[in-house]
Amino acid sequence: MSFMNPFTDEHEMFRKMVSGFVKKEIKPNAEHWEEMGEVPREVFLKLGDLGILGTRYDEKYGGSGLDFWYTLILCEELAKSKYMGAAVSILMQCEMCTAAIHEEGSEELKQQYLVPAIKGELLGCLGVTEPSTGSDVGSIRTTARREGDSYIINGAKTFITNGSIADYVLLAVRTGGQGTKGVSLIVIPTNTPGFSVGRKLKKMGVHCSATTELSFEDCVVPASNIIGEENAGFKYIMHHFQGERIVLCGFALGAMEALMEEAVAYGESREISGRPVLEYQVWRHKLADLYTQIMAARQLTYLAVDAANSGIRAEKEISMAKLFTANLVKEVANEVLQMHGGYGYMEEYPVCRIYRDVAAFTIGGGTNEVMREIIAKQSGL
Ligand SMILES: Cc1cc2nc3c(=O)[nH]c(=O)nc-3n(C[C@H](O)[C@H](O)[C@H](O)COP(=O)(O)OP(=O)(O)OC[C@H]3O[C@@H](n4cnc5c(N)ncnc54)[C@H](O)[C@@H]3O)c2cc1C
Repeated sequence: MSFMNPFTDEHEMFRKMVSGFVKKEIKPNAEHWEEMGEVPREVFLKLGDLGILGTRYDEKYGGSGLDFWYTLILCEELAKSKYMGAAVSILMQCEMCTAAIHEEGSEELKQQYLVPAIKGELLGCLGVTEPSTGSDVGSIRTTARREGDSYIINGAKTFITNGSIADYVLLAVRTGGQGTKGVSLIVIPTNTPGFSVGRKLKKMGVHCSATTELSFEDCVVPASNIIGEENAGFKYIMHHFQGERIVLCGFALGAMEALMEEAVAYGESREISGRPVLEYQVWRHKLADLYTQIMAARQLTYLAVDAANSGIRAEKEISMAKLFTANLVKEVANEVLQMHGGYGYMEEYPVCRIYRDVAAFTIGGGTNEVMREIIAKQSGL
């Protein structure tokens, strides 16, 4: 293990297992999932059997007790499938809708939700964004009013990944006054009366990850479903955003590898005036620039993962890695599409889909502007 290559033989074995899954289960089926608009439930059961849904979680709940390097490998290999929607849908299950239950949830919630989620038997989603607020999590309006041993939930969420297949929502609600100090996280089963899934939203990309609206009308949820302390939800959400941002870095790195593979294959096979595209210096140099920037993105991501594994506060480094990789993957997609000429604009070429899919990377998990705010503040500006 060195800083240039932090991966051990164990990491590489895990990588091989994930890439085997991608080859056998995702690549042959994902085009169909794109048309269906979601990843089928049985895929999660297969992932659960392989132990892929709980790499970071405690072994006593069925996890593998491993660190963020494994999460990074998982994200990269899934993104190399060239179907970012599948990667997004899967990481929602193994990171975004489970991390807070693992870290701050009660033992009862862990047994009821985390254990079956790691097996792929119970699917979840994360409900933070609302029609009127996204980046500004402190302004959410969905309320959870305490009545005896229950909370009564009312409100609406939007842009919710896996909303149509979820059995529970890890939901951000207002339990206190205005602002960040009145926000809590609570788990609500989707069979709760008053809960409904609204429209499945038509998107630019990531078509096989379902993105839906959710609504809550007088939904009664046991008070014991609250995550950690009441009104501490904003702190938990911000903390777990760190994991989500590392996930997005991993997706971006995997997508960039996939894009460069497409660029080389196309550049070697397509001839212009009797010479392959890649023999033209303009394209050789363009790819050389991209390889150099991708290496920089990789090292910045490794720095962020290393910091996250060490348990030190690393919002600044993680935000830098997220900002840099998310911007870069869009640039790489743009250049590789351009290199394909008109073929890059055709759906039958993977670059076309990847270009659309990665457009969301500068938005999800905190937008570029939010990343810059964090970096600026933590740099003393
Ligand atoms: C494919 C996809 C899947 C998603 N999945 C989920 C999910 O599963 N669960 C969930 O809860 N949400 C999900 N989201 C929502 C996502 O987290 C939000 O879109 C994101 O947080 C931005 O919020 P917004 O869209 O409301 O934009 P806004 O917050 O309204 O931002 C509008 C613009 O203002 C900028 N801006 C915001 N704050 C600042 C600031 N302080 N300074 C300067 N500029 C600022 C933004 O960068 C943006 O350019 C998903 C989104 C997408 C696209």
